[in-house]
Amino acid sequence: MTNKIQAVKGMNDLLPGKVESWHLVEEVLREVAWSYGYQEIRTPIVEKTALFQQSIGDQTDIVEKEMYVFDDASDTSLALRPEATAATVRAGNQHGLFHNQHQRLWYMGPMFRRERPQKGRYRQFHQFGIEAFGWQGPDIDAEVIRVGARIWERLGVKNISLKLNTLGSPESRERYRDALYEYFSDNKQLLDEDSLRRLARSPLRILDSKVPSTQELVVAAPSIIDFLDEDSHAKFTTLCDSLTRSGIEIDIDDRLVRGLDYYTSTVFEWVTDQLGSQSAVCAGGRYDQLVEQRGGRPTPGVGFAMGIERLVELIAIEQVNEVPAQLDLYVISMDEQQHAVEIAELVRKSGIRAVEHCGGGKVKNQMKKADQSGAQFAVIVGEDEIANRSVQLKDLRGDGRQEQVKLDLLVTKLQSKITRIN
Ligand code: ATP
Ligand code: MG
Repeated sequence: MTNKIQAVKGMNDLLPGKVESWHLVEEVLREVAWSYGYQEIRTPIVEKTALFQQSIGDQTDIVEKEMYVFDDASDTSLALRPEATAATVRAGNQHGLFHNQHQRLWYMGPMFRRERPQKGRYRQFHQFGIEAFGWQGPDIDAEVIRVGARIWERLGVKNISLKLNTLGSPESRERYRDALYEYFSDNKQLLDEDSLRRLARSPLRILDSKVPSTQELVVAAPSIIDFLDEDSHAKFTTLCDSLTRSGIEIDIDDRLVRGLDYYTSTVFEWVTDQLGSQSAVCAGGRYDQLVEQRGGRPTPGVGFAMGIERLVELIAIEQVNEVPAQLDLYVISMDEQQHAVEIAELVRKSGIRAVEHCGGGKVKNQMKKADQSGAQFAVIVGEDEIANRSVQLKDLRGDGRQEQVKLDLLVTKLQSKITRIN
């Protein structure tokens, strides 16, 4: 017996029946991004490893443990992208999108992180994200957060809330860093191994630790609020005001720093209590130095990334937006199949979703298949009907009525009867 090869651990197949909810979500994401004036950008799945090391930070979980890295033939180290902000910045610099310009961009696609697979945490997962370049904020920060809120509203997601914090200016962040270094150094014996290693260069990263003993220590750590300069404070207050006036509730969380090196100023997360420990559905913030660090001209940026798996799961739990398998018409052929083909093509041109019966067989059996297909209607096409330019139309879901319909009226009739739920 041969061994059946299974999919790679943590990388999922998305089967018919489930993929429809993804379509619905993706459609809403595109529409909302479009309605705020964001434009799509598509970057490659593979980038040079150095891009992620230098952007995300070499002492982050992603870079230290989670990347899929390989050498290509010319010995350049390449990596499957673990996120898309670094590549968006790379592409923007490479194609001159930032100089003297503002950009509102969005992306969607697969990301790869070699973490321990569990519910809501996979090795291939999908993100939708937006990035706004060229504005200092905080007006644009509020906009970026509102885009998230609009998405929840459009999808009918209710159990989700906003955690918000600021890391302040680079200077206030630096002062905070020193205070954290001191605090954690005084409590070294309570730090986990990763945190200990990050203490010297990335003490902020320790706030993001998932190790319980370290988390306990984090509770009593100094708060960024005490280190903010006046300008950072004012900006943060303006942001909070703007969001409150848009009806967005804010939960200020002074321990929220986000696990990547490139954040400055505003950071936020949308979290839910519906998904167990994988509670973050969307996360983002401001990264004012990243473009310049990556060789571009100084360009402020702010954005977020949303985990589509977690979003789809949340919608399934909240049972909003039921997605039916929508087949409108099943075409049954009694005689010459070419007639059925022509009728199927005719209705498709008008946006009706039709399948033709393939494989022949008795009308009775074809009718059975029509029933199983989930289609709302069946048409039965025979020589007699074609001779007088009509077909038999059967309602498969309602009263089961069958009637003769003139070919010229078929499309109008179907369009008036087809019900689409969404
Ligand atoms: P976490 O703390 O859950 O590991 P993160 O801070 O690593 O999240 P980000 O890099 O900010 O996550 O990614 C943004 C969003 O992408 C997350 O809020 C989450 O919804 C989703 N996400 C991140 N990693 C995964 C994964 N391995 N599987 C599924 N979704 C993920
Ligand atoms: Mg992570």
